[in-house]
Amino acid sequence: MPQRPNAYAAGPLDRAAHLRRDRAWLSDRLARPDTRVLPLWQAKTLVGGPREAPRLAFLAAADALRRGHPAAEPYFLGVHGDVAYFAADVSHVADPADDALLAGLGAFVDLRTVGPLMPADEAAIAAYARGIVWWHARHRFCGVCGAPAEPQDAGHTRRCTDPACGAVHFPRTDPAVIMLVTDGDRCLLGREARFPPGMHSTLAGFVEPGEALEDAVAREVFEETGVRVVDVRYHSSQPWPFPQSIMLGFHARAVTTEITIDPTEIEHAAWYRREDLIGLEETEAFRLPRRDSIARRLIEDWLRGPD
Ligand SMILES: [Zn+2]
Repeated sequence: MPQRPNAYAAGPLDRAAHLRRDRAWLSDRLARPDTRVLPLWQAKTLVGGPREAPRLAFLAAADALRRGHPAAEPYFLGVHGDVAYFAADVSHVADPADDALLAGLGAFVDLRTVGPLMPADEAAIAAYARGIVWWHARHRFCGVCGAPAEPQDAGHTRRCTDPACGAVHFPRTDPAVIMLVTDGDRCLLGREARFPPGMHSTLAGFVEPGEALEDAVAREVFEETGVRVVDVRYHSSQPWPFPQSIMLGFHARAVTTEITIDPTEIEHAAWYRREDLIGLEETEAFRLPRRDSIARRLIEDWLRGPD
């Protein structure tokens, strides 16, 4: 098992689900100057501070409300100590660089570029906020009848506005399996054409309806490389709201080793020896996945531990 949480996991907020329907408590908190509202603009996160050590930039709730941002109806994230945290979508602002309040606080950036540089607690809050805000932006209408759907429960559900329908919709998270396949002291790594130059990683794919996680692992490995696996063992998980996944990490043991790639999914796959990966100098020709990824954790934990 991992000795530390994966990036974006183990966030500091108490989600306090019992407060999501407490309108009096929510409006009281939104009137308090110590309440923190994390704005997102077109799925980008507001950060300030130095480039090498970015920090989340929050609006005081009072500022957000006074400015008439849709933070007037922000989504409740949770509490930390006595401080309430919310997220708000400010995508209606034409250019945040021209917005006096927002521009003064920092710049909107892709969380994937700054997440690894931020304190882990802040990165986890940002990932949570990104997932919630993205879901609302993509689920404005009821999937049952097509009428508009409105946020309720402080942003943790949406309800269809047609009383004849009234369907309630919950935030969506798509499960994806990601797995390091091993054969004794070798592991199977592959690369997709979209990867950065030289990067080789674990195999991965989405879980399909009616499919167990172990079955998804075996299917994806076989589809992508023709390798058959057994002994599928859970390792850990990682929120990956880019835009709406959770990565479920596994190790699996190969029972066949001949590789036949599916060129529509990956461009290369091969077996790599543990002794060759330990202490490997990463170059443009060969490198492992980024350090904040669960793929990296699966590889590093296997390199460290007894098989
Ligand atoms: Zn409906």
